[in-house]
Amino acid sequence: MSMSRRNFLKTTLGVGIGAGMLGLGASLLPTTAAHAALTTREMYVFGTLVNLGAEGDTAQAQQALNTIEQRFLLMNRDWHAWKAGELSTLNSALAEGRSMAVSDDLASLLRGARDAAQASGDLFNPALGKLIALWDFQSDVQQRSAPPAAEEIAALCASAPRMSDLRIEIQADGCYMVSSRNPDVRIDLGGYAKGVALDWALDHLAAEDLHNAVVNLGGNLAIAGQRDGRPWHIGVRHPQGEGVIAAIDAQGREAVVTSGTYERYREWDGQRYPHIIDPRSGRPATHVVSATVIHADAAWADAAATALVVAGTQDWPEIAARMGITQVMVIDAEGGVGMTAVMAPRVSFVGARPARVEVV
Ligand code: FAD
Ligand code: MG
Repeated sequence: MSMSRRNFLKTTLGVGIGAGMLGLGASLLPTTAAHAALTTREMYVFGTLVNLGAEGDTAQAQQALNTIEQRFLLMNRDWHAWKAGELSTLNSALAEGRSMAVSDDLASLLRGARDAAQASGDLFNPALGKLIALWDFQSDVQQRSAPPAAEEIAALCASAPRMSDLRIEIQADGCYMVSSRNPDVRIDLGGYAKGVALDWALDHLAAEDLHNAVVNLGGNLAIAGQRDGRPWHIGVRHPQGEGVIAAIDAQGREAVVTSGTYERYREWDGQRYPHIIDPRSGRPATHVVSATVIHADAAWADAAATALVVAGTQDWPEIAARMGITQVMVIDAEGGVGMTAVMAPRVSFVGARPARVEVV
């Protein structure tokens, strides 16, 4: 199965929106004529299915969704880790030990990712592009081949590329120059850029006076306001089966971001190797299979959800606290659920309650 196809499945079954709103895995449509109209848009970008919806004047909403669609296409090109664009050009420059002038947008994206990496103790580490490529996750298609050689993994771990290796300096002419003191730094923003796109989209909708809206990027979702005067009703995908494990109501400005190991992975000799790499071992993180974070800032939530998968079942509360994240639900490989005290009252389990639920 191709990665693109799997991402599609994550979108339809991942974080869906239900109860009189957007049916889980269905289109973004109101269920009865009495509901406030929701103008919707569906597109395929960032290697995944994207759904947008906004209440309000239809012509105004269409116009705003057009702008967001165009902007997402540019972000996809400029921030792609392995296709031609500004980030790939920067990665080539870093590989050759050169510095490069970058756009203000890319400089700001890199600074945000560097702050998140630092706060996570470098468990969120988008400087790991070489390792991610070594594991063959910079590809549209799932690989069926042996994992990389232990020596290659060890060499990249020893070199330890980090975001703090980057220098992002403003020049006298106002341009940003980026360079790296570590030649093994390659930037892969697969764990972060979709969060930035979510924030940008909701900011744009608010600027256009559209204050009740939803943006869903392949299961990473952010909402603003309410839906038809009630909270948005969000389903979190079950990592070990089909359907939804929990429902969460959200309103105001909130992102509900899930990182999981259950969907994008390579398989070899009966073993799965998921796409989130633990920078300490250079190997896929496997103990936490799903981490859901609720936070006002979607980019920060995206980075944190990735970091918490890496942190694992023992350390995730400490890393969440370091990142200032108070609302977390993690699911481990045995189906056990861990939640923060602030998250627990917001989560309604759907179907059978998990055998082990721990609030920390
Ligand atoms: P997250 O946990 O948020 O992110 C995991 C991803 O982050 C990994 O896939 C890897 O890229 C990276 N990563 C791994 N370990 C770490 C770590 N420790 N710290 C930081 N980052 C880490 N997919 C396609 O199949 N085809 C495409 O053409 C394509 N284009 C894309 C273009 C852009 C601009 C972006 C942002 C993503 C694109 N993707 C594409 C999707 C991408 O490759 C990942 O599948 C996706 O971003 C994973 O997101 P997630 O929310 O599932 O997991
Ligand atoms: Mg992430």
